[in-house]
Amino acid sequence: MIVMKFGGTSVGSPSRIKEIASLINSPDNKIVVLSAMAGTTNALVEIASHLYKKEKAVALSFIEELEMDYYLVVDELFTKSEFKSKALGKIKTHFDFIKSFAVDMFTLSGEKAVLAQGELISTILLNCYLQERKINSALLPALDFMRTDGSGEPVANEIKQNIENALQKLPPANIYITQGFICRNPNGEIDNLRRGGSDYSASLIGAAVEAEEIQIWTDIDGMHNNDPRYVGNTHPLSNLSFDEAAELAYFGAKILHPSSVLPAKMANIPVRLKNTMKPGLEGTLISSQSDGINIKAIAAKDNITAIKINSGRMLLAYGFLRKVFEIFETYKTPIDMITTSEVAVSVTIDNTDNLTEILTELKKYGRVEVDSNLSIVCVVGNFIAESKGYALKVFDALKNIPIRMISYGGSMHNVSLLVNKGFKIEALKSLNDKLF
Ligand code: ADP
Ligand code: ASP
Ligand code: MG
Repeated sequence: MIVMKFGGTSVGSPSRIKEIASLINSPDNKIVVLSAMAGTTNALVEIASHLYKKEKAVALSFIEELEMDYYLVVDELFTKSEFKSKALGKIKTHFDFIKSFAVDMFTLSGEKAVLAQGELISTILLNCYLQERKINSALLPALDFMRTDGSGEPVANEIKQNIENALQKLPPANIYITQGFICRNPNGEIDNLRRGGSDYSASLIGAAVEAEEIQIWTDIDGMHNNDPRYVGNTHPLSNLSFDEAAELAYFGAKILHPSSVLPAKMANIPVRLKNTMKPGLEGTLISSQSDGINIKAIAAKDNITAIKINSGRMLLAYGFLRKVFEIFETYKTPIDMITTSEVAVSVTIDNTDNLTEILTELKKYGRVEVDSNLSIVCVVGNFIAESKGYALKVFDALKNIPIRMISYGGSMHNVSLLVNKGFKIEALKSLNDKLF
């Protein structure tokens, strides 16, 4: 079994859906994981925000606009009227469902249900299209197997059991099509794995079915050595270890959802990143192998907040850090970077949902300073934080950029630097010039 995940751009138009049909039409068994068509989840987020604000008429006009777009997709995708009307009927059911939320009480669970419709619709379109082309496939509903716990984290053993049960109930097919991103929470409500979560779905499914390979098909030819959105002349990397890929994904390489590498790593399943538009290109293979001592890539993560706690109580004391960390634990807020001095400790977070409460608690221990709008620039490679010369190269590249924090030696794969967001692009470019 292989898992093939296609992202938003890869299913973004009728012609792309047709190309996917050709890419998956091979005899080997596969689970195909789809995102919503590009732009749909953003449109649904906007619709949900109008529903929250009780702007029902505006919301309905956005819903109808999106519905019309899908009717055009159906018209272009299908040739036979039988399949056109079948697909139209199914899509209309989903839009009627979205419209049913134009009521006075719009809640978070309503929002999650609305956001899920993009993936439900894209999978219907591909499955119907395969039927029109007489390619044998079956829909494997993600809501029947993908489960999260009370913290929003996937529950691997339940997912594995559910997916086995769900597959047994389906008619035999060598192509099963399922939705990325969407799941059910412990209350049985529709939920999701956060934005960009279809990669995570693919990795969780791959681990659950013990796939031979997890393929992430996207709009670029693999993981590049720097962020192609900000830096020119980047190039794809042919190999990465799981740890290197995990660091890059976590620290901002958008091509992979931050959590998506771990399930594949735990199950030791290779992950291949491929370009849907240029399937002949090699792409990137992520596996347990890592090659030599070198710098592989640079990534950056925005919206970082730094918190500095100055405390006389730290001086020669033990147990102080535990108290600080407990506050972040209580408010379920992960810490990304940490640096300490004799009298102060600085940490960074990217989730500021509970910042006010965290600061109130921290102030009990000393003077607290907060800086926001920062970016973590992260240099990733193999053994780079344990070998001679790499630190010098990194700091030389950044000699004109004020650095707020440095994390070096936390793992051998990563050197992280905290800068003002305004310096991010300059830092990425300068590191690119000096390191590659
Ligand atoms: P999909 O919709 O297929 O999930 P995404 O937009 O989420 O695709 O991810 C692909 C995009 O990630 C690329 O178009 C590219 O702009 C961006 N990206 C950021 N950093 C990197 C990187 N290091 N390597 C490759 N792509 C990257
Ligand atoms: N459709 C979802 C999003 O746009 C999930 C994904 O594309 O991975 O965030
Ligand atoms: Mg993505």
